Amino acid sequence: MTRAGAKEKNRGSAIAKIVGRNVTKYPEFDNEVRMWVFEEIVQGERLTDIINTKHENVKYLPNIPLPKNVVAVPELLKACEGATMLIFVFVKGVCEQLYGRLEPGAKAISLIKGVDVGNEGLQLISDVIADHLSIDVSVLMGANIAQGVAMDEFCESTIGYNIKENADLFHKAFNTQYFRINCVPDVGNSNLIAAGAELCGALKNVVAIAAGFVDGLKCGDNTKAAIIRIGLMEMRKFCKYFYEGVKDETFFESCGVADLITTCSGGRNRKVAEARVLTGKSLEVLEKELLNGQKLQGSGTAKEVHLILREKHLIHEYPLFTTVYRICYEGLHPRAILEEI
Ligand code: NAD
Ligand code: 13P
Repeated sequence: MTRAGAKEKNRGSAIAKIVGRNVTKYPEFDNEVRMWVFEEIVQGERLTDIINTKHENVKYLPNIPLPKNVVAVPELLKACEGATMLIFVFVKGVCEQLYGRLEPGAKAISLIKGVDVGNEGLQLISDVIADHLSIDVSVLMGANIAQGVAMDEFCESTIGYNIKENADLFHKAFNTQYFRINCVPDVGNSNLIAAGAELCGALKNVVAIAAGFVDGLKCGDNTKAAIIRIGLMEMRKFCKYFYEGVKDETFFESCGVADLITTCSGGRNRKVAEARVLTGKSLEVLEKELLNGQKLQGSGTAKEVHLILREKHLIHEYPLFTTVYRICYEGLHPRAILEEI
């Protein structure tokens, strides 16, 4: 019996909808999908109660019916009780609570697009989870803006993995006619190929900020395409520098160029960066005003990336990443994106 648990939000709810439908198709899955929901009061009611009665996440994924077997649970440990498959879309403080409380044989997949730079240098989020919980962690990365996924718009996604059986199980849980998953293998413990997939998911958010700046500056499509191309080259260079063995093919998967294109057209990072140019308001204010409780990730990732590039004396080799950082944190005018790259 394999029970899945996921953390809700926009992405979490969209993926729970898919998993909720898929688990009923295969005998190896338990039919209930528990979704850990950070409790909020929405229009006077607990969000978990609304989800469990209306079967809709009215705040983060409105107008999308969720399968009835997706059950919102406000307590993390209860949501994960008995679960052998864990789907992460949020990690802060989670591993500490789950430590020593997971089922034997539990495995996880991370959908989180970000990196962590600390005393140990650059760390992938999948590594953070694996290190804390001593479990195998795959990643699911791709051109998957949650609203489109939830509306069954055709799209693709990439699973990067260490252990094939685990990837196959997650493939069964996620793959549909409209949500096509390709699994790319990983090598050993160092996430050689999944590192590429996961880093693409994080780094594309920095490029999306640059794309938003040029949209705000009213540059045309040629300029935006140039930003995307230069951003992709910096993504590839960064991946290969920090994780030897990342293959060029990875950048042609959904996790690579496709995610970069979608995020630079319809993503939140682009939207907020454009608004930053148009309104002059800070990114923090715009995040609150425009994202309805969701988080801007590109600026945070630009900071983490800058930290590690500075430590390695590589800043000058990544003009786009560096300029995004300097606009976000050092008061440089967004026009600098055109001057510095
Ligand atoms: P999000 O990351 O914008 O929001 C999650 C937020 O929940 C947290 O950042 C946090 O502020 C909030 N929260 C507040 N208090 C909390 C608490 N105590 N415990 C847990 N959470 C708390 O949500 P998202 O848009 O669903 O994105 C989740 C992840 O999936 C991100 O890493 C994102 O890059 C990735 N992703 C999102 C999409 C999308 O279209 N939304 C698509 C692909 C991947
Ligand atoms: P944004 O975070 O820019 O909204 O993009 C979501 C995403 O990751 C699409 O795959």
